[in-house]
Amino acid sequence: MPSTMTAIIDSHCHLADPKLIAEADAVIERARQAGVTTIISVGAIGTIETDRLTVELAEKHPNVFAVIGVHPHDASAADPARIAALRELARSRKVVAIGESGLDFFYMHSPADAQEASLRRHLELADELGLPIVIHCRDAETKLVEIIGESGMPAAGGVIHCFTGNAAAAREFVRLGFHISFSGILTFRNAGTLREAAREVPEDRLMVETDAPFLAPEPYRGKRNEPALVVKTLEKLAELRGVEPSRMASITAANTRRLFRIPERSA
Ligand SMILES: [Zn+2]
Ligand SMILES: [Zn+2]
Repeated sequence: MPSTMTAIIDSHCHLADPKLIAEADAVIERARQAGVTTIISVGAIGTIETDRLTVELAEKHPNVFAVIGVHPHDASAADPARIAALRELARSRKVVAIGESGLDFFYMHSPADAQEASLRRHLELADELGLPIVIHCRDAETKLVEIIGESGMPAAGGVIHCFTGNAAAAREFVRLGFHISFSGILTFRNAGTLREAAREVPEDRLMVETDAPFLAPEPYRGKRNEPALVVKTLEKLAELRGVEPSRMASITAANTRRLFRIPERSA
C-alpha cells in the first residue's frame, strides 16, 4: 500500500524528545511504512542539546529535516549566547527553519515579556538566515499578530504550528502570510471551532503535523504519539474539505516542501 500512496509529510514533531529518541530509527521506519516519507523534527524543548540531537538525526536520515530554536516555555533561556549557538547549528544544510518560538499565555511557563523578547530574537534570526519561522501560539493570537505587525514576517515566511484558534484567527494569520498546520486536535470530539477554521484556510496554506510525542489523534488520544499517526489528522482534514486523503496528502506535502524548501525525493 505505501508504494501506491502519495508521500505524506509530518511537518512538526519532536524526535529528540526522551519519549522517542531511544527508538527514533524504528519510529522513522514505522512512519515510512505508513506512507509518511518525510519528517520535520523540531528541537527547541529543553537545552541546546535537544537541537544538537535533532540536527544529528537529520544528518543521519535523508528524509528527516531539523528546526531549531527555543520553545516559549523556556523563553528566558533565549539569551544572545543561546541565539549564537543556534546560528552556529543552523549551518547544517538539514536545518530548514527556526523555531518553535512564539507565545504561550495558556501555560505561561515563562513570563510574557520574556516570551515576547525571545520571539523577536527568533524572528530576527530567521530573517538573517533566510529561513522560515515555526510559531507556537496558545491563547495569544492578538499579541502575536501585534508583534508580527511591528517586526514584519521573515522573508522566507512561516507556519503557525498546531493551530488551535478559530476561523477569524486563521484568516488573520493567513493575511500576514503564515501557513496553518493542523495537529491531532482536529480529530478531538470537542474541536468543532477548530474544524470550522480548517474548512476555511486557503488550500495553498494547509499543513498537517503530529507534534509527537504529544497530542495523539483519535482513536489514540492520550497515548504516545508518533509521526506515522499524522495519517489520522490528514484523513480528518480531507473529510472536512471534501477531498480524497491522497489529494490532501499531496496538497499538504507540496505546501510543506515549498515553505521549508525541501526538494522532491524518490525515497
Ligand atoms: Zn508547540
Ligand atoms: Zn512542537
